[in-house]
Amino acid sequence: MNIAAGSNRSSRIAGFHKLSPRERLDLVAAFAGLDEAQVAHLANMGNLDPVLADKLIENVIGTMNIPVGVATNMKIDGEDVLVPMATEESSVVAAVCNAAKQVYETGFLTSVSGNLMIAQVQAVEVADPAGARIRILEKRDEIKAACDACDPVLVSLGGGFRDLEVRLLDTPSGTMVVTHLIVDTRDAMGANAVNTMAEKLAPSIAAWSGGRVYLRILSNLADRRLARARAVWKAADIGGEAVRDGIVSAYEFAAADPYRAATHNKGIMNGISAVVLATGNDTRAVEAGAHAYAARSGRYTSLTTYEVDKDGNLSASIELPLAVGLIGGATKVHPTARACLAILGVTTAERLARIIAAVGLAQNFSALKALATTGIQKGHMALHAQNIAMMAGAVGEEIDRVARLLVERASVRMDVAQKVLEEVRGS
Ligand code: NAD
Repeated sequence: MNIAAGSNRSSRIAGFHKLSPRERLDLVAAFAGLDEAQVAHLANMGNLDPVLADKLIENVIGTMNIPVGVATNMKIDGEDVLVPMATEESSVVAAVCNAAKQVYETGFLTSVSGNLMIAQVQAVEVADPAGARIRILEKRDEIKAACDACDPVLVSLGGGFRDLEVRLLDTPSGTMVVTHLIVDTRDAMGANAVNTMAEKLAPSIAAWSGGRVYLRILSNLADRRLARARAVWKAADIGGEAVRDGIVSAYEFAAADPYRAATHNKGIMNGISAVVLATGNDTRAVEAGAHAYAARSGRYTSLTTYEVDKDGNLSASIELPLAVGLIGGATKVHPTARACLAILGVTTAERLARIIAAVGLAQNFSALKALATTGIQKGHMALHAQNIAMMAGAVGEEIDRVARLLVERASVRMDVAQKVLEEVRGS
C-alpha cells in the first residue's frame, strides 16, 4: 500500500482497524509526512496503557493529555471536597477556587430529583395513535417485567423500571407514538442499560401500536435526573452592593437574551465538563442535556438564577440534568478517572452529580463577578500571556518573563511576544 506523503495519498486504508496503535501511527506518519519528533510524541501514551486506550475507542494512534487541576475551598452540604477538573482552558480552575473561597463559611447546598433516565421508542405509521397510546399504557406491568428482566444486576441494586409515558408527536409524516421507559439506573449513567431495554421492548410496541418501530435510544434530556445547587454570597464578602447588583444584572441579561445565555452557560459548562471529563463521564451527553434543558420553555435561557435575598445578600442557584455515573463507560476503567473519583471520595452517582452542579454554580459566579467588575480579560490575561509566550517560542524561565512583560505593556499579542522574546534572549 502506497501512502507516502504527496498528492496521490489515499485515506482508504483497508484493515486499518486491525493494526496495532504503533502500526497505525506509522501509516499515518507516512500519509501526513510527520517528523520523527511528532511520531515519538504521539507514540508516548503517557499514563494511559496503550492496550486499554486501544479498547476504549477505534483506530487509536495516541492519547491526548489534558491537565487535571484541583479546585480548593469547596464545601458542599457541609463537607469539604477537593474537586479534580480536566480542562485545557486557563482560569477555569482558579474561578472555582475563588468563588468557593468567598462563600466557604456556608458553602454550597445541593439536591437531586432522582436517578431516572428516559429511553424512547419511536413508532410510526400508526393508524390510531390515541388508541395505541392507551393500549401501550395498559401494558405497564408487562413492560416493567420485560425491562427489569434485561438487567437483573441493576434491579438487585435497587434500580430498574419506574414509569411509563406515551407521547403523541405531530410531524410532517403523521402522528408518531413515542413511548418513554423511565428507569432508575442507580450509579450508572445508564445509556447502555436503558438502550437495551428499549431494544427489547421494540417488537412488542410495534405489535401493540399496530405501527412500525424505528428509533430505540435514550434521551439526553435527562429531566428526571436533575441536580441542583445553591449558595448565598454575602454582599460584604464579594465587594459590596454594587458588585452584587452587577452580578444580578449580568444574570438578567442572560435570562433575557439567548446570545448572552449561550456564553453564560458555556462558562457554567467550563466547570461542569471539566469534572465530567476528569471522572471519565460523557461530556457530550451532559452538555446536550444541559443546553436542551436551558431551552425547555421554548426560549434558550440561563441555567442559573441570581437574586438579592431579604438580607441584601446574593442568593444564587443552578438546576440542570446531570446523567453521570461511577461505573460504565470510561469511569470504571480509565485509571485517571478512578483516581479522580477517589479524590472526590464519592460513593454514589448522586453525590457526584451534586458536586458537579456546585462546581457549575461556582464557575458561573466567578465569571459574572469578573464581567460585572474588572471585565473578563484582566483575570484571563496573565495565563493567556503565558500561552502566547509559549506560542512565540519561549521555553523554561523565558515563559514567565515574556508573559510578565506582555502584561506590563498591556499588549498580549503574538507579534509583540516575538519581539519581547528577542529582547529577553538578548539581555
Ligand atoms: P454500562 O452499560 O457499561 O454499565 C451499566 C450496567 O452496570 C448496569 O446496567 C448494571 O447492570 C451494571 N451495574 C453494576 N453496578 C451498578 C451500580 N452500582 N449502579 C448501576 N448499575 C450497575 O454503562 P451505562 O451507564 O449504561 O452507559 C454509559 C456509556 O454509554 C457511556 O460510555 C456513554 O458514553 C455511552 N453512551 C451514551 C449515549 C448517549 O448519551 N446518547 C448513547 C450510547 C452510549
